[in-house]
Amino acid sequence: MNIEKDTVVELDYKLMDQAGQVWESSAEGGPWMYLHGYGEVMPGLEKELTGKAIGQKVKVELPPNEAYGEYEDDLRTEVPREAFADVENLCEGMRLAAESSDGVHAVVVREISEDTVIIDANHPLAGQTVKVEVKVLSVRKADDDEVAHGHVHQHGKCGE
Ligand SMILES: [Zn+2]
Repeated sequence: MNIEKDTVVELDYKLMDQAGQVWESSAEGGPWMYLHGYGEVMPGLEKELTGKAIGQKVKVELPPNEAYGEYEDDLRTEVPREAFADVENLCEGMRLAAESSDGVHAVVVREISEDTVIIDANHPLAGQTVKVEVKVLSVRKADDDEVAHGHVHQHGKCGE
């Protein structure tokens, strides 16, 4: 069976930045399973995987628009220091979970000044070309519920 829309794909994967530093891999987190055709993986990788079968490998370099998107200046926000309960413990480069009206986002502390803190909600790999290596471990047709929900059900159960 080949990968197409509405198949459930299991992958061994390795995600690297331009310098070759590994950000994520199945060696640490286990294989990644997803429903193909719903934008769950980077657009460039989803395109490359279409038509592949078990055992096939894909090795690609993806520009920002095919990976985590361009770096958006709008996603940098200046916040008053008072907004942080433990501002003394902040440092530049630190990752935080920030709550806003539309949920919780991962942000990075960019600059700490006398009055304000600049936080950045861009994905850490936004604006970067990334390298991805994957191997297809399994492909199966998604069942009707999975297609209706737009995600994989592990062991036949919905996780949401
Ligand atoms: Zn579900």
